Amino acid sequence: MTSFVNEAQVLLSSDRIRGMFKRLGMDGVSLRAPSRRLEEILLKARSGETIDREDALFLMNLDRDEIIFIILAASEVRERGKNKTVTFSKNVFVPLTRLCRDHCGYCTFKIEPEEGELFVKPNEVIRVARQGARLGCTELLFVTGDKPELVYSVYRDALRRLGYKTTAEYLAAVSEAGLKENIFPHSNLGVANRDELSSLRESNASMGLMLENISPRLLRKGEAHYRSPDKVPKLRIRTMEYAGELRIAWTSGILVGIGETLEERVDSLLAINSLSRDYGHIQEIIIQNFSPKPGISMETHPVPSSLDMLKTVGVSRLIFGEKMNIQVPPNLNPKSFPLFVIAGANDLGGVSPMTIDYVNPEAPWPQVERMERALCELDLDLKERLPIYPEFINEEFLDKMVLERIIRVIDTSGYVLEEANNGDRRDKTKDN
Ligand code: SF4
Repeated sequence: MTSFVNEAQVLLSSDRIRGMFKRLGMDGVSLRAPSRRLEEILLKARSGETIDREDALFLMNLDRDEIIFIILAASEVRERGKNKTVTFSKNVFVPLTRLCRDHCGYCTFKIEPEEGELFVKPNEVIRVARQGARLGCTELLFVTGDKPELVYSVYRDALRRLGYKTTAEYLAAVSEAGLKENIFPHSNLGVANRDELSSLRESNASMGLMLENISPRLLRKGEAHYRSPDKVPKLRIRTMEYAGELRIAWTSGILVGIGETLEERVDSLLAINSLSRDYGHIQEIIIQNFSPKPGISMETHPVPSSLDMLKTVGVSRLIFGEKMNIQVPPNLNPKSFPLFVIAGANDLGGVSPMTIDYVNPEAPWPQVERMERALCELDLDLKERLPIYPEFINEEFLDKMVLERIIRVIDTSGYVLEEANNGDRRDKTKDN
């Protein structure tokens, strides 16, 4: 027991760590010895076992004076699996269509047909992909609303004129075109069927769908997912099962602070962990904090506290274990992202030198140099990855055509080659 307290004292004696706690309004932690139950869980986690639902809930209910023990255990587990490496990817963000049939209470992405373009045109996608590749970006991030063709006839007709019946068909076509520009698509289509995913797999390096939360309660009137048929948890789980069957490297995650209970949050993490165990295709978990914006129906909904986020990141690491990649978006946590790394995260997601975050337009991307400096002060290294993590770069998880292109831009560890991220990749990866 004393050793846990000693370690916590050492961590808190660092000016940098104390400064970060202070910036999060969590200074003045009064350290006390962990309870017997907490000590048992810490020993279990640190011995390499993952924690179960009861353990996770116990940890989620700890107060701020004990959170340091979760951070220490999660940090040790992260370091065992990831050493000193923290990753990010350089991307361009294409909001392929912002029309959507859902009405999530936290959304700022969705627009109505009269509020903007129905979709990003093919020539604009190519222009952005080409420019992104020139700037050294390796990820062509596509985000769409969910099935707008089912509710907007003007969109359906416009898509038809281009030769496509669905958003999924259009996305597959522009992904293929984007890949030819030597930048690697990562698509977020929403709920999808097997055929749609199979077709996207031919050009995508990886794909993603946030679970958001496993609770159907959030679909009720007044809750975050009211009138959002694509947020039915079992449909999202089914999409991810198809992805597992198709061997697609998959990104998922949870949205923290949208009205879920702690039990629902833990159950959401466990549901993704169970998919990961069953199919082995979950490459990354995003722990994203709800961020209110003017005009959304959840405008006055409280944000999750820093304590809440730190506990969730730490508990996620202890549930998923040392191998999983856990991401906390740095633009939503500009002051605190290094502390989230200490608490178990090992990825800072996509940052773009060119496009904004259309999902959180109020939050600018941090500069890579700034992230690098902040991590260096904690004795951690920042490395650039592709939209697919090194451990998934193989024939099992990639279409042959995509794999061939990827191999030309990675080093022996599977990270982006230095010269490739300086922007001269186009020559190296020319179609030949
Ligand atoms: S599914 Fe996505 S785009 Fe559609 S309303 Fe919900 S958050 Fe917005």
